[in-house]
Amino acid sequence: MSFTLAIVGRPNVGKSTLFNRLVGKRLALVDDQPGVTRDLREGEAKLGDLRFTVIDTAGLEDATDDSLQGRMRRLTERAVEMADACLFMIDARAGVTPTDEVFADILRRKGSPVFVAANKAEGMAADAGVMEAYGLGLGDPIRLSAEHGEGLNELYTALMPLADQYEERAKEDAPAIDVTVHEDEDAPDHTPTEKKPLQIAVVGRPNAGKSTLINKILGEDRLLTGPEAGITRDAISLTLDWSGTPVRIFDTAGMRKKAKVQDKLEKLSVSDGLRAVKFAEVVVVLLDAAIPFEQQDLRIADLAEREGRAVVVAVNKWDVEDDKQDKLKELKEAFTRLLPQLRGAPLITVSAKTGRGLERLHDAIRKAHDVWNKRITTAHLNRWLDGMVQAHPPPAPQGKRIKLRYMTQAKTRPPGFIVMCSHPDKMPAAYSRYLVNGLREDFDMPGTPIRMTMRGQS
Ligand code: GDP
Ligand code: GDP
Repeated sequence: MSFTLAIVGRPNVGKSTLFNRLVGKRLALVDDQPGVTRDLREGEAKLGDLRFTVIDTAGLEDATDDSLQGRMRRLTERAVEMADACLFMIDARAGVTPTDEVFADILRRKGSPVFVAANKAEGMAADAGVMEAYGLGLGDPIRLSAEHGEGLNELYTALMPLADQYEERAKEDAPAIDVTVHEDEDAPDHTPTEKKPLQIAVVGRPNAGKSTLINKILGEDRLLTGPEAGITRDAISLTLDWSGTPVRIFDTAGMRKKAKVQDKLEKLSVSDGLRAVKFAEVVVVLLDAAIPFEQQDLRIADLAEREGRAVVVAVNKWDVEDDKQDKLKELKEAFTRLLPQLRGAPLITVSAKTGRGLERLHDAIRKAHDVWNKRITTAHLNRWLDGMVQAHPPPAPQGKRIKLRYMTQAKTRPPGFIVMCSHPDKMPAAYSRYLVNGLREDFDMPGTPIRMTMRGQS
């Protein structure tokens, strides 16, 4: 059993575009079924390994119609009744409009879970709208571009607990067959649905030891490993408890399979890795200590950063290194030189074979995830900004001093900030870097990608 999600919102925000993206061709027209409105369509959605039913309320094109508001309200209410949860979509380019507020009111009064999606959020023009969406009081908005397929990983992360909950429920509803349950009176109350698994992708070149690492973490031979490329089964993801942390590991099996196609090796590996990266919160770039920082490793690490994932670099096969001290120094130098964009990201040495270093890897992943999720209050940020400006004022291009007025954190995962200032186009990159590096130091945010947008008063 799976859940049903209704996409609701005023006309033209992009509901159908998202619906089509999620459903592809798996469409069931609701109006073929008796008793259901013609204004709703239903489809089987596919998002990563999630399967659910999605309802689209896109039956309203004519925004000039006087009766629109009433029809919209009725349609939305019907969709909400039919669904287990709602995705409330706004157009981030337009910001929150009075009509959006009407929808928000309807949704607030319903008991079912609501996710807010700020759509058309590709590019900077949407930043203000995304910020406004926080103000709806319906939780953190998911930054989406339905048209460009951006933000689907965030949507996935948001929906996953719901999927897990319905899976659990399906299990409870299923007739018990030959299952012995051992009741443990002292066991803590398990509520797995409340704990979202931390999503990890382990990426790296073929033979870096990805399968061996995942097996070691699993503690059992659930995945096959071997010296040849291409023998791991095509697992999409595995959910497990790793030292008390629920994690979901995305396997890049396809990467090894396709690696057999020698002439296309690099291109295919990167695009397969990209798929895993898209669904991950933390990306573990696994290197082979004997051949670290190969071109392919660098590309995937760079890609993870550009996708805004938290990155942890793990150097594997550390058991076969003789001169560990020198080697580590060498690795750290290479890291700083070749991946400056990942400044401060952890570098952990491990042996997937012996299991050495896995606890440190676990802790580094947790920490990277915390930093990635970090939220700093606006008051705190502005006090900090004052100090930064006093210590080192922004430049005065053509005699006009750039004034920094105000700063706020617009998003997390990864942290993104907006600085309101005069002449944002004249702000030198070096000053933005000064602020980003300052944030890293003063708020303890190493490694994670930090986005900073300069914006003029609008
Ligand atoms: P609906 O009425 O809410 O179902 O909206 P549609 O899905 O029909 O989209 C309305 C318009 O917005 C169409 O022209 C889409 O191409 C456009 N659109 C949808 N999603 C995006 C997006 O992510 N970015 C941009 N720039 N345009 C989008
Ligand atoms: P994948 O292609 O990245 O999944 O790599 P595998 O997990 O299949 O490992 C490739 C080879 O490296 C196998 O022969 C493993 O036994 C070996 N290997 C993996 N991890 C280690 C390690 O920590 N130390 C040593 N010495 N060998 C390892």
